[in-house]
Amino acid sequence: MWSLRAWRRRRLLRRHALPEPLWQAAVDGFPLFGRLGSVERLRLRELATLLLATKTIDGADGFEPDDAVRVAVAALAALPILGLDLDWYDNWHEIVLYPDAFVQQQEWQDGGGVVHRQRRALEGEAWPQGPVLLSWHDIAAGSHGARLVIHELAHKLDMLNGPANGFPPLHRTMNRHAWTDAFSRAYTDLRQRIARGDFAALDPYGATNPAEFFAVASETFFAAPQALHAHYPQLYQQLCAFYRQQPLAV
Ligand SMILES: [Zn+2]
Repeated sequence: MWSLRAWRRRRLLRRHALPEPLWQAAVDGFPLFGRLGSVERLRLRELATLLLATKTIDGADGFEPDDAVRVAVAALAALPILGLDLDWYDNWHEIVLYPDAFVQQQEWQDGGGVVHRQRRALEGEAWPQGPVLLSWHDIAAGSHGARLVIHELAHKLDMLNGPANGFPPLHRTMNRHAWTDAFSRAYTDLRQRIARGDFAALDPYGATNPAEFFAVASETFFAAPQALHAHYPQLYQQLCAFYRQQPLAV
């Protein structure tokens, strides 16, 4: 079973090998890849190659992503699972790229039976039983763009054990209490800071609910690990244990 998987993997890597200039341009476009060592870069490239070979990255609303765009998105998507593996993405098969922020219509009924409609412009969204939707315009906008991809994929990891709630499936070696403690302390602190109008180390959107907090903490873990470690060291350690990466160690 394992050897068959390894064989299939090697075959996919051979057949779908990424041309060097294409790969180099993709990683050069995002400063957060700069901290990766040579072994990690190789693994990132393998995971991105497998991702491109086994999942779909398509355009919507008239956008037709070229190879450069697809490889850049695959490289960013591979970062959260660099210390895990591709099977952590078994719950999705498709990334849909919009040219720009896309509009989503929401409908809900309040306690009095009144139906409300709201139209929101989104940069990204992860559907529980479906694709990951992203705006290419926002991904291409520097460091924020890397955060956007990581954010939506963190939601997908969170959804591996049920609805997104800030509690993804932890490894057996991890302590659930330590996770809950670190997360609830940091979440409470962020909410209080925002309520007081104080400086917040994380994007205020993380104060929305525990699921958004996990996604915002994850994007900060990869894109600004110093800030996360300085303000919430316990949370940083828990994310190191979960992602099996230490962004500050290299
Ligand atoms: Zn979110």
